[in-house]
Amino acid sequence: MSLRIAERWFEYERLPDGVTRIWEPHVIRVMQCNIWHVQGRDRDLLIDTGMGIASLHDAAQHLFDKALTAVATHSHLDHVGSLHEFDDRIAHRQEAETLTRASDNFSMLRDEHPVEMITSLERAGYEIGPCFVTALPHANFNLSQFNCPAAPATRLVDEGDVLDLGDRVFDVLHLPGHSPGSIGLWEAATATLFSGDAVYDGPLLDEIPGSDIPAYLRTMRRLEQLPARVVHGGHDPSFDGARLRQLARRYLELRS
Ligand SMILES: [Zn+2]
Repeated sequence: MSLRIAERWFEYERLPDGVTRIWEPHVIRVMQCNIWHVQGRDRDLLIDTGMGIASLHDAAQHLFDKALTAVATHSHLDHVGSLHEFDDRIAHRQEAETLTRASDNFSMLRDEHPVEMITSLERAGYEIGPCFVTALPHANFNLSQFNCPAAPATRLVDEGDVLDLGDRVFDVLHLPGHSPGSIGLWEAATATLFSGDAVYDGPLLDEIPGSDIPAYLRTMRRLEQLPARVVHGGHDPSFDGARLRQLARRYLELRS
């Protein structure tokens, strides 16, 4: 397979409330995670870290001018690839064990994965091409053997815990269903939810290893009631509270 070498691996978009969206344009949609940088007075947050195909720590240095806490909304590879590059790492206890293990020899090639895994993603609504990336980060990148180091959490959080940035606070919401320890971060002052893969404006995945439809239904009933003004999801564009309620209701109708 001949893929070109990307000029740069990450793209950036500044949003209101000190939020920057970072993403990897050369990763296919199902694995193209939104990485959120959130500025605080004393400390910044980095919510999810992408695939780890290129160094996020090096590429986004212009954003990292103070103490930084990296949060894993859950432990799927597309959200924790660069987590090991950051010293302060937060996750839910039910994702903790996965983070202690490296992902060795992950293949970017469709044909090197079980057919059932690929077809379940396609059934959910994703187009999966022959390769999970559409460009290479450098000439020596091995598409068949991508290694992601372990990144054990340095602090475990659960429902009700608070992340304090000095001038803004985020409540941890436990939002299981997509994965057992999926969390969201809720900032009541701006009515903003960082939702990870619990909800985003695209095909949701609830039939993959570790997902749980009854738990997902409870999460969606809860999200339907959340007075959100803006939702920054784990994939796809951000959306408003009305869309959140629509997405939650659609899921509840589909799965109840
Ligand atoms: Zn996920």
